[in-house]
Amino acid sequence: MRLRDKIALITGGNSGIGLATAERFVEEGARVAITGRDQKTLDAAVTKLGPNALAIQADLTEDGAAERAVAATIERFGALDILFLNAGIAGNTPVGATSRAQFEQVLATNLTAVFFTVQAAAPHLKEGGSIILNGSVHQVLGIPGASAYAASKGGIGAMNRVLASEFAPRGIRVNNVVPGATRTPIWRTFAATPEELEKLEAVYSRGIPLGHLGEAVDIANAVLFLASDEARHVTGTEIVVDGGTIGAP
Ligand code: NDP
Repeated sequence: MRLRDKIALITGGNSGIGLATAERFVEEGARVAITGRDQKTLDAAVTKLGPNALAIQADLTEDGAAERAVAATIERFGALDILFLNAGIAGNTPVGATSRAQFEQVLATNLTAVFFTVQAAAPHLKEGGSIILNGSVHQVLGIPGASAYAASKGGIGAMNRVLASEFAPRGIRVNNVVPGATRTPIWRTFAATPEELEKLEAVYSRGIPLGHLGEAVDIANAVLFLASDEARHVTGTEIVVDGGTIGAP
């Protein structure tokens, strides 16, 4: 029980990496609030997670949504120890095909909303707490067709180190988990058909020495470590979970 009696808020906890992390957290004794925009998948997730989970419907790009999510977590569970900033969207268009609205939506979701959720949670996080950001190998790999996404995740990597310094005096650690290609619903947005998706995964796998994409639970296990007291002297760093990815496809 590595998270016994801990209280966590996981953004995007109704799907993929966020849901896998919520499951691991509950298994390890935590009570977990999860956010998402889609009520149906939120309901399904809470049914799966059981009585120690709370669903909060919120679009975190909207003003006040983060404050509402934090307040609902505190109201139900009474405190906040762990914050996993996981919610994100892909952006898979080359420069010439990316509209201003698309660029701004990716930045608003993957970077701005993360900053303001941290800001909303900050006054409530307890000493010994842990903030975990969710970056991407796009931070460093020049994978074509994803400049907005890469910019948003690069911002996460830079923000990680500053937040770690700012929160350290309060005994709160901040780290960034950096997934490589991971088999989650976000992948469905990359291809029009299941056959195309299979081909795309095969192409990506060629750049992964371990030979295959990660699973959501692979990322969740790294987040669990960063959230737990086992990582009590770990802050301002990144854990890359990417099967050894050596390059863009
Ligand atoms: P999913 O699409 O399964 O999860 C994305 C989550 O973000 C969903 O729960 C979604 O919920 C939520 N979300 C999206 N937009 C908003 C919003 N405006 N407000 C609130 N919640 C929102 O994909 P993953 O699990 O793969 O992605 C999770 C994170 O992991 C993302 O930050 C992604 O960039 C990162 N990542 C993923 C990789 C991969 O290969 N899968 C690789 C590297 C990083 P809802 O739709 O209900 O709002």
